[in-house]
Amino acid sequence: MPLHTTEAIVIGGHNLGEADRIIPFFTRQLGKVRAVARGARRIRSRYGGSLELFTLGQLVFFELPNRTLHKINEFSAVEPFAELKADLGRLGRGAYLVELAGASVEEAEPNEEIFLLLRDALTLLVLHDDPRLLRAFEIRLLRIVGYLLELYRCLICRSTLEHSAEPAISPTRGGLVCSRCRPRAQDSLSISLESLGFLRSALHGGLEQSLTSPLVHPHTTSLQEVLRVCIAHFFGKRLRSLAFLSLVE
Ligand SMILES: [Zn+2]
Repeated sequence: MPLHTTEAIVIGGHNLGEADRIIPFFTRQLGKVRAVARGARRIRSRYGGSLELFTLGQLVFFELPNRTLHKINEFSAVEPFAELKADLGRLGRGAYLVELAGASVEEAEPNEEIFLLLRDALTLLVLHDDPRLLRAFEIRLLRIVGYLLELYRCLICRSTLEHSAEPAISPTRGGLVCSRCRPRAQDSLSISLESLGFLRSALHGGLEQSLTSPLVHPHTTSLQEVLRVCIAHFFGKRLRSLAFLSLVE
């Protein structure tokens, strides 16, 4: 029975039996891992409060062969991200980040790039409860999972975008369509030149850099809708916390 040690983020959790919890983690080396915390709900549990949502820590677990549910040996918290649980807005947006990251990989499919993106996003969300952070997270995540939106040329006529043009994004085609070709892309959604500029720089720069972008409301709101449709198209379903997020935003 192999024993693994890896950096991990708690991305959920539910009760099992009378005293146990099943905890899904996004781990740095092994992707998503679900493991049982024996006795986690007992008053004198050795886990204390360390297995709460968002907690970043060092996970030691036994991998049970041919099983998708493993056994936690130890979890030591490094950063609980307690501030994200202090208000409903941050909680909802944090829950959205972990759910989106979790939905983007299969169980035990390693993806260190997504782990680092999620860790950075949760860290930044503590100080910057800012829609630009979420939009930058989304476009970067989509790129990592292989859905790189074309942001420079029309996908139908291949022309580069004129400054005066009214660009649109087609989620099924995977990027820009120009105003001339738009009738041939029925699913396309208008996107402002400001939002387009934001997406281009968010793909090249980091999450932190996106917080210095000049993008403001209402562009942030319309961009949210465009990315939401792209995500729904790519992931094939509306994610549970998207509904939750619309309640708190
Ligand atoms: Zn075109």
